[in-house]
Order: sequence, then C-alpha cells, then structure tokens
Amino acid sequence: MLILVINSGSSSLKYQVRRMDPDSAGTAGEVPAAGIRSEVLADGSIEEIGEREVGDHGQALDAMVEQLEAGLGRVEFDAVGHRVVHGGTHFDCHQLIDDDVLRTIDELAALAPLHNPPNAEGIRAAGRKWPGLPQVAVFDTVFHRTLPEHAWRYALPAELQERHGLRRFGFHGSSFEYVTREAARLLGTPLEKFDAVIAHVGNGASATAISGGRSVDTSMGFTPLEGLVMGTRPGDLDPGLLLYLQQQGYGADRLQELLNRDSGLKGLAGSNDMRSIVKAAGEGDSRADMALAVASYRLAKYIGAYHVACGGADALVFTAGIGEHSAEFRRRTVDRLDMLGVRLDADANAAAEDPQEPCTISAAESVIPVLVVPTEEEQIIAEATAAVVTSR
Ligand code: AMP
Repeated sequence: MLILVINSGSSSLKYQVRRMDPDSAGTAGEVPAAGIRSEVLADGSIEEIGEREVGDHGQALDAMVEQLEAGLGRVEFDAVGHRVVHGGTHFDCHQLIDDDVLRTIDELAALAPLHNPPNAEGIRAAGRKWPGLPQVAVFDTVFHRTLPEHAWRYALPAELQERHGLRRFGFHGSSFEYVTREAARLLGTPLEKFDAVIAHVGNGASATAISGGRSVDTSMGFTPLEGLVMGTRPGDLDPGLLLYLQQQGYGADRLQELLNRDSGLKGLAGSNDMRSIVKAAGEGDSRADMALAVASYRLAKYIGAYHVACGGADALVFTAGIGEHSAEFRRRTVDRLDMLGVRLDADANAAAEDPQEPCTISAAESVIPVLVVPTEEEQIIAEATAAVVTSR
C-alpha cells in the first residue's frame, strides 16, 4: 500500500511517501502496538506557501508531485493521510474524510487557529487533485483520549463545560504514540507495562505522562497554548493576566497574536531558534540565558509532576527539534532533577546532537534511563491511514 502523508502548515507543506507492508498489519481499523513495517520512498517539503512562487496549497501539491516524479517516476497512491491538529470532542478515532468531517475540522479552527485552517486547506487541495482517492484525517488529539477525567476536567462549572465542550485534549499525539512505542522497545519493556514521561520539545512543545503505554496526562489543554514554554507561545499563564490585559484594551485578535506568535522563546529572547539562543547565551547574552532558564525550569517542573501522574516513570524521553538536538537544553532540564536521582552522562548527552536512532544519555547511576528518541509522526499517520482505509 502506497501512502502519501501530508502535514500541511500555513507556510509549508511537509510530505512523505511510505510503502506499508500489509503482512505486518494488525487488526483492521486499529493501529497495531508493534507497528506496521514501512519503507520511506520520498521525504520532503514545499516551503513559502503564500509567497509569489507557491501561491496556495494546491500549487504546493503540484510542486510536490513534480519533486516526487523527478525522483520516483509516476506514482499512484492508495490513500492520503493528513495530520490534523484538533479533533475536539467529535473525533476519538482517526477518520475517513467526507464533507461532514471536513466541516467539523473547519469549525474546530476556533480552537487551533494556527493549525486546523492550513490542515483543512491541504485536505481540500488533495481532494481537488485526486478526486475519489481515500483521504484520512489523523488527529493529534486521539492518542490522549485515554486521559482520566481528573486529568481532562477543568475546575469550571460542569454545566458550562458541557455546553461548550470545554476540556483538556492534548496534542502531538502521533509523536507521543511513536516515541512511547520506540522507547519501550529500546528498553525491552512490554508496551502495556511501560510508564514514562515524554518531553516533545520543538517549536510547539508538550510533555506527556505515559502509564501502561497510554497517555494519562499531558501539558497542552483545550488548545495548544497550555503548558510548556514554546517557540512563540507562552504556555501556562495566570488567566487573570489575560483579564487584566483585556481591561487595558487588548481585544481578542491582539491576544490571539500575542499568545500564538509573539510569546515563548521569541518573546523572551527575541528568537525562537534554539540554536541561536544557545549560542547567544554562551556568548553572555542575558536575555537568551534567561529564556533558556525559564523554558528548562518549566519542563523540569512538569517532569516532576508527571512522575507522580504516571505513578513513577521507568524512563524520561526527549524528542522533537530541541529535545533531539539541543544537549544544552536537556542538560539544563535534567540538572534540576538531581533530587529525583535522574542524571545525565555528560559525554553521551553532548554526543546526541543529531541521533538517527534512539539512544540513552543517562549516567550509569541514574535511577531511570534518560533517552533521546527521534520522532516519526509520519509512521503513525501512515499506519492509521492504512488501518482506516483497509477497515472500510
Ligand atoms: P520542531 O518544531 O520539532 O521542528 O523543532 C524546532 C526547534 O528545534 C527550533 O527551536 C530549532 O531551533 C530547534 N533545533 C533544530 N535543530 C537544532 C539543533 N541542531 N540544535 C538546537 N536546536 C535545534
């Protein structure tokens, strides 16, 4: 089965073509615990959508097909799998896309304004380009459907929560699912017995507590704004601060901009590129140093809390752009966990700057292993797409 995986953002479209091995598939309709074997045939991205060269997502798909055919010759996909960030209360499993599903993804744009609109654009463009080809929405929120009520409920009036579907959802689900599986495999622990804290730290960032291979708490909530300090989002804030800004004349649009694009590392250090922040901090830039301190301290607090949430972790795992590549950010975070007995091996940590495979970076005396696992959300999206299409 040949699956095209699309991750469609506002200014870029990432894609992969994967050949799935149907013989290794599990029960139809379910993503098997061990994973379906797959081979990556092509991997790339189209940047600068909305600029003169790449006007819209339709043109981005044309450019993608050109790139693909230059490398692979003519390709015929069996299905397209789309990453969709917010599935809200409507979807607790991945969906074959029809008009109703697409309409709901559009409606959920209010909760994920940076993500759902370009996700929907990618779906529409693929529908126009390949009419009749099955398309599947693979939601970031689905992996967190196992959150217990005490973790997903906000302490707001119950009636209000029901009326508006207010609850914590969590995101980065495909990444957490993949990394959980790989970390358990590396440690030789059966998935259903695996307890861990996973830190997905990229431009978007969230931490998840895993118990028995399932998500039991996660730091993003109703929207992808809650939790850790991110590239351009602040993470946790006192809601009273927003009320105060509102009284000072900040309207919803300005707050949206502030919270989604101007805060986080960018707000603190003037840049959301971890490489330049670490470099500047090393050269004595106090704002960069403070940004690193705020972000790593926040993550360390969550790791402590999630150690409780999962009943004692078997492992701490770093993934995504910063988690996989920034030894300095990992060092600053794990240094704060000394009282839990979690310690890095300085050389192993420094060596893991671009790991191609999962690796261990903890010291021999650390009470639990600390791992770096390169994430592969596309593998989960391709598996889920194959499973949904074969169970039709
Ligand atoms: P992601 O959203 O997962 O692609 O992660 C993006 C973040 O990873 C940005 O802050 C990048 O600066 C950071 N990043 C990527 N490569 C490196 C690297 N080699 N060292 C430090 N940070 C990196």
